[in-house]
Amino acid sequence: MPDRIGVGVIGTGFMGRCHALAWRSVGALFDDVPLPELIAVCDVDAGAAARMAERFGFVRASVDWRELVADPAIAVVSITLPNALHKEVAVAALRAGKHVWCEKPMALTLADAEIMASAAAEAPGLAALGYNYLRNPAVEHAARLIESGAIGKVAQFRGVVDEDYSADPALPWSWRYRRAAAGLGVLADLMCHLISVAQRLAGPIERVCGDLDTVHLARPLSDQPGERRPVENEDVASALVRFADGASGTLASSRIAWGRKNRLAWEVHGTRGTLAFDQERMNELLLFEADGPAATRGFRTILTGPLHPPYARFCPAPGHGLGFNDLKVIEAAQLLQAIAGRAAPPTSFAEGLAIERTVHAIAASVASGGWIRTEAALPRAEAPMTS
Ligand code: NAD
Repeated sequence: MPDRIGVGVIGTGFMGRCHALAWRSVGALFDDVPLPELIAVCDVDAGAAARMAERFGFVRASVDWRELVADPAIAVVSITLPNALHKEVAVAALRAGKHVWCEKPMALTLADAEIMASAAAEAPGLAALGYNYLRNPAVEHAARLIESGAIGKVAQFRGVVDEDYSADPALPWSWRYRRAAAGLGVLADLMCHLISVAQRLAGPIERVCGDLDTVHLARPLSDQPGERRPVENEDVASALVRFADGASGTLASSRIAWGRKNRLAWEVHGTRGTLAFDQERMNELLLFEADGPAATRGFRTILTGPLHPPYARFCPAPGHGLGFNDLKVIEAAQLLQAIAGRAAPPTSFAEGLAIERTVHAIAASVASGGWIRTEAALPRAEAPMTS
């Protein structure tokens, strides 16, 4: 294992800062991974790139992602760009021999996600996706409890993922509401996270029957007072699903759910018990086991702590809590462990493609008006417009 590894970050927004923070911290917290060297940061906004280089300690800043991808000092590339750019940059970085850590969703279309997965399969480097909610020790503990039979056989997975970032109808129109720039709406932006958790806890999703709706049909243009432009993708989405092993499920997601900030909440109902979780209370896992006298039964709250790896890397005291950014540090550590040959990458492009298939199958089922198999989501079929 090399002592050091050069990293580059493309994008300096919400996720760019989150990846940069993770790269800065991971070597200090995980002493079994190569120490990242922050070589370059890139953004079309030269000032933002320069500021981030200075504050985070990158050696250089650039405005051209091609320059960063070609940099021989860089072995791992973080892609934290808007969705429309993921495919081109990820494929170029993989072909240049880099390891890639790309934000979700993979791409605007299933066809592009397939191209990315093929590029990853042929490349020498590893390719991972930013499904950070899977890195929560509470979620991993839930998976282990299910595997150990603590709640019996999984009967049903019920999940929601709700935020209110688009709840205000007066919010101006932006690229986020345009198919060519953003692709699908809440399905691609939030539902993909819920699908990642559903598949981790209940296995592959085989069939789906979806429903989509656009509630705020047009939004005001900030630069043209009085003018409005149509919203081209969905605000809310829901689906009935069937898992390959027979369990049923319901998934629902909204970007207009007033008051919900990051409510990635789910329950797994088993034949002997129930697990429940809400990302807004991300250090708590609820467990009900149908054991002992009925009068004393009830949900137990398991607070995560050092016995739930890798919590102890961050803090020796249970119940003190991890935060959102810590999940990205764990993701970076898993990627570095995978590069060192000691683990699988955190959500490979092949695994991400299965999530994309489910996302696009939900959209396609709306067009076909009934249940469809996830493998039937045709890569070249554009997902249907909503009302
Ligand atoms: P953002 O708008 O905050 O940041 C995007 C950055 O990319 C901006 O700084 C922009 O200037 C830069 N950029 C745009 N075009 C560029 C180009 N051609 N070259 C270089 N830089 C360019 O967006 P964000 O919220 O950070 O989202 C980025 C990605 O992260 C999206 O794919 C989003 O879905 C994903 N995301 C993931 C999570 C998560 O929990 N995993 C959370 C939020 C966003």
